[in-house]
Amino acid sequence: MTALAIDDDFRTTFVRDPAALRHYPALVLNADYRPLSYYPLSLWPWQEAVKAAFLDRVQIVATYDECVHSPTTTIRIPSVVVLKDYVKPQKQVAFTRFNLFLRDEFCCQYCGTRGDLTFDHVVPRSKGGVTSWENVVAACASCNLRKGSRSLRQSGMSLRRPPRRPGSEELRNVGRKFPPNYLHDSWADYLYWDAELEA
Ligand SMILES: [Zn+2]
Repeated sequence: MTALAIDDDFRTTFVRDPAALRHYPALVLNADYRPLSYYPLSLWPWQEAVKAAFLDRVQIVATYDECVHSPTTTIRIPSVVVLKDYVKPQKQVAFTRFNLFLRDEFCCQYCGTRGDLTFDHVVPRSKGGVTSWENVVAACASCNLRKGSRSLRQSGMSLRRPPRRPGSEELRNVGRKFPPNYLHDSWADYLYWDAELEA
């Protein structure tokens, strides 16, 4: 078994692509049995889940069939773990590129297309527009080009909805519209995807 380094803090940022997590990722649930995050889904590499179990910081609620061995013990690799101490969600959602795209559901806020997105300042920077939740939206390259440095009114374009700062619960619910490609069977009982809105 790999030597386990002991950290004081748990990871609260998660890899977006579960394939990047090597094999046997563990779904991490908060003490209320809800995932810490939907998008990216809160997953730990197995080493981290095993370490947390040894440190008695999590309870293992489901396992893979495969085992890991140390000189003294053998344990099944956890597939779902629950934190023993409840982690409070952050009050304010961080203003990051990813969170902004997530708020806008990865759609151009002018025409609704997905993919190849950039950011648009609704009030252009050249006209004093600031970089904030209220003034930046996801936009496709062609809408961005079309709008240029004109105001919304000058461009004759309209937004699908007025941009604003999302709440953390709200953003978490948006994440439920984007299930990852890989989901282990044992995770299904703890995840509630917003299937209705799936493309
Ligand atoms: Zn567009």
